[in-house]
Amino acid sequence: MDGKVLTAAATDTDVLIIGAGPVGLTLAVDLGRRGVRCMLVEQKSAPHMWPKMERCNARSMEIYRRLGLAEKIRAAGLPSWVPMDVFIVHSLVEPPLLHLPYPSVDAAKRQIAATHDGTLPLEPYQLISQYTLEPLLKSIAETLPSVTVRYGCEFVSFEQDANSVTAELSQGGRTSRATAKYMVGCDGGSSVIRKQLDIQLSGEGNILQLRQALYRCDDLFERIAIGKGRHYHVADNQATQLIVQDSTRHFTLHSVVEKDEDMTAKFEQTVAMPVQYEMLYVGEWRQNLLVADRFMDRRVLLAGDAVHLMIPTGGLGMNTGVGDAVDLGWKLAGTLAGWGGPGLLASYEAERRPTGTRNVGASRYASLGRRKWRGQWRPNIHDDTPEGAAVRANLVAIADVEQRKTNEMTGAELGYHYAGSPLITAEPGEPPYDYIDYTPSTFPGVRLPHVWLGDGRAMQDCIGDGYTLLQLGGSRADASALAAAFAQIGAPFTTLDLTGQAARDVCGYDLILVRPDLHVVWRGDAAPGDPETLAAMATGHRG
Ligand SMILES: Cc1cc2nc3c(=O)[nH]c(=O)nc-3n(C[C@H](O)[C@H](O)[C@H](O)COP(=O)(O)OP(=O)(O)OC[C@H]3O[C@@H](n4cnc5c(N)ncnc54)[C@H](O)[C@@H]3O)c2cc1C
Repeated sequence: MDGKVLTAAATDTDVLIIGAGPVGLTLAVDLGRRGVRCMLVEQKSAPHMWPKMERCNARSMEIYRRLGLAEKIRAAGLPSWVPMDVFIVHSLVEPPLLHLPYPSVDAAKRQIAATHDGTLPLEPYQLISQYTLEPLLKSIAETLPSVTVRYGCEFVSFEQDANSVTAELSQGGRTSRATAKYMVGCDGGSSVIRKQLDIQLSGEGNILQLRQALYRCDDLFERIAIGKGRHYHVADNQATQLIVQDSTRHFTLHSVVEKDEDMTAKFEQTVAMPVQYEMLYVGEWRQNLLVADRFMDRRVLLAGDAVHLMIPTGGLGMNTGVGDAVDLGWKLAGTLAGWGGPGLLASYEAERRPTGTRNVGASRYASLGRRKWRGQWRPNIHDDTPEGAAVRANLVAIADVEQRKTNEMTGAELGYHYAGSPLITAEPGEPPYDYIDYTPSTFPGVRLPHVWLGDGRAMQDCIGDGYTLLQLGGSRADASALAAAFAQIGAPFTTLDLTGQAARDVCGYDLILVRPDLHVVWRGDAAPGDPETLAAMATGHRG
């Protein structure tokens, strides 16, 4: 920045967020709802209709519910009756080779309503295209008084000192400075901020290059007679996959082809019926499995694709970034409010880097499964011969195991945890964790399971924005010393007395201390022996 003439006046804010992808937008909404002053800077002049993610997972939907957005996202996303089924096909007019059924949002909500053992999330998944989600989040961020949203504004570089971060921004040919107490780089896989910090990505880069195209085709979805669903994988040697977008009038197709023009023939070959359509976009993208070596440097934090890049198989990319955003939201708010100790924000890397690494591992696991069944393809797969039938049968048998890995990673979605974090009580052993199976638990560090209370409310909905001590099953433990310890620090703390047995049964303890993000800090059957130490640890004042 040295030596440049800056023509506009300095701007001051508390948090400068660079990049209005889903991660930067979610962080801006979270901070805005907490009343934190922040400025969101995006180089695009407006959101693009470029296809990327479409699967918002159950945990992200729980998070969006806490932000008051779940129903808005559902209203903008795939209609709730549409099944989330996955098919392996030759084309859309031939009987599927494999059909894996998954519930629509309506059906999943019915399952959730009838389940009381903590195994299911409070909210089911939602298919919403990234090009629908981003404008929706932008419109909400723009209504929040403490949030300034600046599109058409490029971040150029920054400097930081002991008290602040100063960024150089460029908008309409004019250069300006913005000074903030913290800066969060949500600037995507090519993050300029990560590069300026000289933070490396480790793992496997550029694994496979595919083309993706977006088509508008108004009547195709209604005309798919082989079964309604969201993903139609073509059993070929080009990794071809058709994905239904949220309107059911838009579709993306991924395939390994030579030229953009080949995406026209590929679409027609996959659809295999005469339809009116328009190709709205075609571009290339690369598969990566990478994690940044560090997630922060003093007052500069990195979130989302800036620090983890995964293969969309399993739909964990944006969802992991949303997890980063909400981990940062309350920690930034607590630090700026003055009750957060030096360890509060510093715990971000300790909590989210292992989560990013685990989710990259889950993505690798799912994509290896995908590669395994696709590896069974042979040129004679269409042949009406015993050999052709054997190729098909073998591919289907393997896909019936391997493709499920992509679609059924509930363990990775709900079971991620912060055990080992300096903000979390250490207990012997490990929380249950498996990419596929989610086991409800209150082991310190995990997300609090969803439980219906006797009066029909969800336990998660009863928990406010501060620290909460859940008193379960009629516990008479005296929480006053813990309340006093949090009050001494100035951190928001309440107790929630839930007398019914259901929550006690699922949680397994009389007392559970949860943080603003619903992760368990501590559990026990009697009041904590050293409440001052517990409160100091949870708020980042120890270590
Ligand atoms: C084909 C495909 C399918 C996918 N499907 C899924 C899925 O189903 N589920 C899922 O969870 N994930 C999925 N993903 C991954 C998901 O799209 C990404 O993880 C997500 O976009 C990351 O969000 P982000 O906000 O971190 O970064 P991005 O979305 O990349 O946003 C970064 C933003 O920063 C802006 N920016 C960059 N540099 C600057 C600068 N210097 N100044 C100002 N602004 C800047 C960019 O313009 C951009 O708007 C998919 C990805 C692909 C490619």
